Amino acid sequence: MAKVKVENLTKKYGSLIAVNNVSFSCKDGEFFSILGPSGAGKTTTLELIAGIKKPDSGDIYIGSSLVNDLSPQARDVAMAFEKYSLYPHFSVYENIAFPLRAPTRKEKLSPKEERKRVEEMANLLGIGELLDRRPQHLSGGQRQRVSLARAMIRRPQVYLLDEPIAHLDAKLKVSARTTLKRLSDKLGITIIYVTHDYKEALALSDRILILREGIIEQVGTPEEVYLYPSSDFVGRLIGDPPINLIDGEVIKKDGKSFFKVEEDFSIQIDQALVSSTEKAAWEEDGRRRIRIGIRPIYVKVSKEKLSDNSFQLPVYAVEHKTDSSIVGFELKDTFLIARTEERVNWRMSEKVWIDFEQKHLHFFKKTVDVSKK
Ligand code: ADP
Ligand code: MG
Repeated sequence: MAKVKVENLTKKYGSLIAVNNVSFSCKDGEFFSILGPSGAGKTTTLELIAGIKKPDSGDIYIGSSLVNDLSPQARDVAMAFEKYSLYPHFSVYENIAFPLRAPTRKEKLSPKEERKRVEEMANLLGIGELLDRRPQHLSGGQRQRVSLARAMIRRPQVYLLDEPIAHLDAKLKVSARTTLKRLSDKLGITIIYVTHDYKEALALSDRILILREGIIEQVGTPEEVYLYPSSDFVGRLIGDPPINLIDGEVIKKDGKSFFKVEEDFSIQIDQALVSSTEKAAWEEDGRRRIRIGIRPIYVKVSKEKLSDNSFQLPVYAVEHKTDSSIVGFELKDTFLIARTEERVNWRMSEKVWIDFEQKHLHFFKKTVDVSKK
């Protein structure tokens, strides 16, 4: 059964279409993320589900009910926002307990039951020791966890979380991520989680919906969206360093197919991939244009020539990681990035051999700009 289902949801602000005919369904107990850059329509989508905003068209179901005409309170959802605001004069305990005391609540808890519920949630989030403190005596990370605890203290049908850990520093983020994962597994709750951070989405989600300018680009498991990005946009959004996108054309010669970047630079395409290139390629000025994608870990670089398909480029820049190097090359009007398996100590302008691992090639239409500018 779908716990949350939206059908053909559209929301306009004047002439801007913030959410454009979006349909998806999120299963009972699923951790479902909405991933996209700033302005993609993520927050608006959540606000429509929560009932804070009205759609121009489309239907929203929670459980098996159509909730279009229900107030936010009647929808039985809990929402946590990026910008948390705690009540400064309340203790952490009172902040977390607040939603349980709302006069509109049907379920009234005894003080003992309430304390048990608050302590359980606080312990899950690692703030059990802080219940008597005031918010001003907490660190930013602790405050964000209190705000999350407050959002999750009720047992609504669905949690809507809008970048709830965006403001934590990198280390705290990792621990908050682990906590969220634990919470969702333990409580078996349905979560729609908005983020612009692909690492969060990959780490937490059962499935990810990728939004771009109000339109769905892809919905899939973390593996699916990483391994089989449906577009150059999705490829580019997920992964660091980002996937390389190289524009060229498909050429046929002596029954073989080649990907040609420029006059003296073309590589033969494995027979097994030819039909995929045919599908992606388009006609332009009498040529078969195509964009290929390859992740930096599959761009093999070495001092020796590894195959007939190897090509040589001068090193543009090298950046070192703890156990690998990121090597950049100039390729036409873009950069080609390789991630090595070990650190390399190559100099600038030194020529090295490059190979693409063909089974990791992607073929795309051109929808994002990747020029160096
Ligand atoms: P995201 O959360 O993915 O960053 P939003 O849903 O906040 O995106 O916004 C989507 C688009 O709608 C953006 O272009 C944003 O500027 C616009 N927008 C959001 N809220 C309003 C509003 N109240 N009035 C006008 N435009 C808005
Ligand atoms: Mg937002």
